[in-house]
Amino acid sequence: MDFSNVPSTFPATAQHVVDSNAMDVDAPAGPSNTTAFEGNADASASQVNGVDSSLQRVHLSQPMPPYPTMANPNLTFFYEDADNDSDSVVEKGRMVRTGYVFDPLMMLHCADGYTPTEDIHDSGEGHPEEPMRIKRIFNRLKEQGLIRRMKRLDFAEAQKEQVRLVHTDDHWHKVQGTETFTDEYIQETKNYYDHLSLYVCRETGHCARLSCGGVIQACRSVCEGEVRNAFAIVRPPGHHAEPDEHMGFCFFNNVAVAAREVQRQGLAKKVLILDWDVHHGNGTQRAFWDDPNVLYISIHRHDGGKFYPSSDFGALDMVGEGEGEGTSVNIPWPGPGFGDGDYIYAFQKIVMPIAYEFAPDLVIISAGFDAADGDQLGCCNVTPAGYGHMTHMLCALAGGKVVVALEGGYNLRAISDSSLAVAQVLLGETPAEIGQVQASELATEVIHEVAKVQSKYWKNVNAAACAPPEIGKGGGEYVTTVPDLLKQHRLQHMYTKHKLFTVPLANTDLHEWFQNQVLVNEGLYESETETLVIFAHDFGNLRVETDGVASVDVSLANSYLLDTSDAVVDWVRGRGWNLIDINVLRNLRSQFAKGPRMVSNSGDKMDGQLMRYLWDNYVELSSAKNVVLIGHGTACGAVMELVNHRDVQSKVKAIVQVAGMHSIVRPDPTNENRRTWFRDVCQIYLPHIHPLLGEERLYRRIGGQLRTARKAKVVDVLVEALPEIKEFVDSKLDPVQTNGHAIVDVV
Ligand SMILES: [Zn+2]
Repeated sequence: MDFSNVPSTFPATAQHVVDSNAMDVDAPAGPSNTTAFEGNADASASQVNGVDSSLQRVHLSQPMPPYPTMANPNLTFFYEDADNDSDSVVEKGRMVRTGYVFDPLMMLHCADGYTPTEDIHDSGEGHPEEPMRIKRIFNRLKEQGLIRRMKRLDFAEAQKEQVRLVHTDDHWHKVQGTETFTDEYIQETKNYYDHLSLYVCRETGHCARLSCGGVIQACRSVCEGEVRNAFAIVRPPGHHAEPDEHMGFCFFNNVAVAAREVQRQGLAKKVLILDWDVHHGNGTQRAFWDDPNVLYISIHRHDGGKFYPSSDFGALDMVGEGEGEGTSVNIPWPGPGFGDGDYIYAFQKIVMPIAYEFAPDLVIISAGFDAADGDQLGCCNVTPAGYGHMTHMLCALAGGKVVVALEGGYNLRAISDSSLAVAQVLLGETPAEIGQVQASELATEVIHEVAKVQSKYWKNVNAAACAPPEIGKGGGEYVTTVPDLLKQHRLQHMYTKHKLFTVPLANTDLHEWFQNQVLVNEGLYESETETLVIFAHDFGNLRVETDGVASVDVSLANSYLLDTSDAVVDWVRGRGWNLIDINVLRNLRSQFAKGPRMVSNSGDKMDGQLMRYLWDNYVELSSAKNVVLIGHGTACGAVMELVNHRDVQSKVKAIVQVAGMHSIVRPDPTNENRRTWFRDVCQIYLPHIHPLLGEERLYRRIGGQLRTARKAKVVDVLVEALPEIKEFVDSKLDPVQTNGHAIVDVV
């Protein structure tokens, strides 16, 4: 890069420019340039200083003086329309589900000679940590229409006192010092920085502060409830930056600083940092090594200590010390080639059990995408769907308060695809199906070793259950998952309290997926009762049931589900009606008994198949003349599958969909007759904060009568709406009654 012909605002601090000859190459930010950036820091601080900085958030789409605005003329390329969200569908006053942080100014940090290009980066040329990384991710989300559904979070550069929560004073000055470097000095110190796996330019300090400030803001906005979750598309990355050292493309440890900052502001006490970057986040682990309130879990290539950052610090017996003993968790892969099956297995056996037990107030994902399929630094095979599933699992924690912060990832196509999959899940979509994936033998051995170490600190980790299954035994022991546990409790309760029995499923597949999940009341077959209520739900789906409180308390979640179940059963049975209670949340244990297979909630429409099976084998053969369909949560999709694929119109008198924050399935648009009928018999409940409520099309799209609830959580919506649901069902079962004519006792 040739700076000589670039008009720069840099001379503003020219009197402080470092005499490069006087500099010790081991300490590029010596005392002589301290003055220079202190001046800068004060100038910028004056704009946000003194008052609660949240009131003074500066939007940084415009460069802030006194920093150089254009270090490289090529970079004008970045400014075209990068952040234009004028087609946003986000409305004022409605809670937006997902926020994002992005500022093209973060692209100004670049290596000597860098030329921006839209071409896929190939490892032959240029530095892998290149500016285009964040733009490609942003553009991908924008092209796919995600940005318009997300809220842009304005943010300020990280301030010194924030960075100092993790880093030393010297370190802050060292990074700031890069802003005063001359071209010659940058050349002379190249080897020094190479040695640390870094490059610097005069924009480095500025970009490092922006990147860090962006993650801080994402965490604040999520903790304060401005958005439910957020994606920080930032660079330079941070997880290698140690308290007193920059290294591995990282200057400030963005995630560590943000965690400390929300703690300092009292917005979160316990923070989980899940680091799926292919490299060990040595800096983050160091920052919280003895801290019991920040749980650091890393899945990374270790290669016996030979993979970057090439130390033993990421080994599986590195567990933290003092009060923090047990709150560092390392899952070290011994080499390349690990993929979805291995990562999901690690999540099932180690990450999620520990995370539930820790019960964080906030989850921050150190989201490097260099374990992605196609990344030539990581040489692993995680697919976008794999990242989606991991995000989905983490969203069940901390009441959904999840911040995704970009770390590494160097294949531009892979990081864009992976980011897209992650952002879709943040917005509430179901992750794509993965199909048959199996944890490798190596991975199961690693997990077993990790479990042996971590079971000393975490009750939820069962080392014996992590022992690799013996070949020929066809499966082996698998830990019961939390959703399975909740379903088991409910099953017991429904039997003892309501005398509901399980229905055998003659279809082998259905039996495997849904055994013990279809309940009916005693005497269903004998009775002549004309009214049958089919209640399809996904109770146990923690993703939608965990409420705004921080902890995921299994017993609390359990009692909540039971109370809600009681309310429904008491109503239906109290009226003397028959009940079929269907849990469409598939039996995870049986999925994993044949090797860890990960299937999305509605991916292969098994729940629809279950509904059709029950309709054909139970409802059609019963004496029921009036059928009421009630869908709850993700089971709404299963109800629609039934409506669209069976001739239900003569029997079904009322349909209630309590859809929560899910996407809404509509009736088959090609069948006009059914659509008209559906509009009359169906009532749909959505939380008032549902992101689709602002869309005009919604009313046409859902096809039924829309109601909104004050609550957000789908179980709460059901409880809130139940009195109205009862009235609605009554009106549909006996239209005469509501017309004001003679009242006949319908029971
Ligand atoms: Zn990395």
